[in-house]
Amino acid sequence: MNRHARSRTTVYVAGALALLAAATGCTSGGDSGAASAALVPASGSPASGSPATAAPSRSAGPSPSASPTGGPAAGDAAAWAKWHLTPLPPAPPAPADKPVKLARTGPVPVFSEVKTSDKVVFVTIDDGAEKDPKFVEMLTDLKVPVSMFLTRDIVKDNYGYFKPLQALGNHIHNHTVDHAQMSKVPPEKQKSEICDAQAALTQQYGTPPLLFRPPYGDGANTPALNTAVQQCGPRAVVLWRESMQIHDMQYQAADKKLRAGDIVLAHFRGPKDLKGETMTQMFGELLARIQEQGFAVARLEDYIEAPAA
Ligand SMILES: [Zn+2]
Repeated sequence: MNRHARSRTTVYVAGALALLAAATGCTSGGDSGAASAALVPASGSPASGSPATAAPSRSAGPSPSASPTGGPAAGDAAAWAKWHLTPLPPAPPAPADKPVKLARTGPVPVFSEVKTSDKVVFVTIDDGAEKDPKFVEMLTDLKVPVSMFLTRDIVKDNYGYFKPLQALGNHIHNHTVDHAQMSKVPPEKQKSEICDAQAALTQQYGTPPLLFRPPYGDGANTPALNTAVQQCGPRAVVLWRESMQIHDMQYQAADKKLRAGDIVLAHFRGPKDLKGETMTQMFGELLARIQEQGFAVARLEDYIEAPAA
């Protein structure tokens, strides 16, 4: 099946699978369901058109800064060896012409993969429950880019934990106030779930989140959710193609293989939710699964053109 056909299939099944996914809690089993959608406007218009705008090209955010703790440089074999890992291939330069172009107004696109021929995948980490200092050390050493989708009430006891991760160039995005299952709550509540989280994350981290992810992927393709996202500021709904468990990934593709541009979901989780494994062990296994398949990890925001201010 070609990519276009695959995307159409995932759009079709996203709603049903999201409901299945919702049966598991995010802190234990997860946003691990197969919620997925291609890059389509959620307003019901056809999938064929690009949501491109005339917005001038600009990056969605800052580049990674130097390690504040003087950790090893990216690609440093010693850094990877410290974590008992084989280095990933280096990511190619960020594309000048971004495959995803976001508009300043109107319906927001919903996507679970980025159209690119670069042999890269994108890692996203959700919720924010586990705040393991070792994970900050790990990302400082390895410089693997991640995008964080944080839930306000799960991170509000320690907003500061995520600031060193942000300082590495990683972006923070919106994952609601309290992890509500969006299709089960009325439109006004969906709006407050997104807008209140947007306000808190903007205040804490200094930048309005550009992207939104509904818990469990639930409701992603509904008009009510799309409207709420538009009212609150994020300009896209981001789902996923693979979901990291403890030792392996759950794939939506029948052949259980990564594809260029796939978005991978993981969670900030610790031993309580990982059968004794730590966040860094889980993340190391995630990187090993990606390395085995020959992919680099690129920064999602490097492939997205933010709307013109
Ligand atoms: Zn979640």
